[in-house]
Amino acid sequence: MTKKLHPLVCGNIGNHCVECLKDTSFGTGLFVNRIPADRDVEDEDGNWLGQRDGWLCALCNRFECDRCGGLIDCDEDITAYDVYAQHTDFHDGAYRVHEECLTPEEKELLEVNF
Ligand SMILES: [Zn+2]
Ligand SMILES: [Zn+2]
Repeated sequence: MTKKLHPLVCGNIGNHCVECLKDTSFGTGLFVNRIPADRDVEDEDGNWLGQRDGWLCALCNRFECDRCGGLIDCDEDITAYDVYAQHTDFHDGAYRVHEECLTPEEKELLEVNF
């Protein structure tokens, strides 16, 4: 039995994901790759209700690709930092992208610097 959490729950939510509120305890399939996290909780009008502490599950722990807008699985994101080995953005202002969204030149640089 999984306890259903209220969408605006505050405080320590134990093993639940602060984003999707799924149970991430051992055996749920979300235990691996979860990271400790907290979130501000606001109602629909943007009023701050409090903060919740829990985990961020692997499904919520994903970034958006700055080029195609799709989600990147955790650990598979490539940042401009990975390519240029310095704090910078790509020429088009993107910062975090899929490896397949890199230009051929960027891929070459990545091989050299990564
Ligand atoms: Zn989640
Ligand atoms: Zn992409």
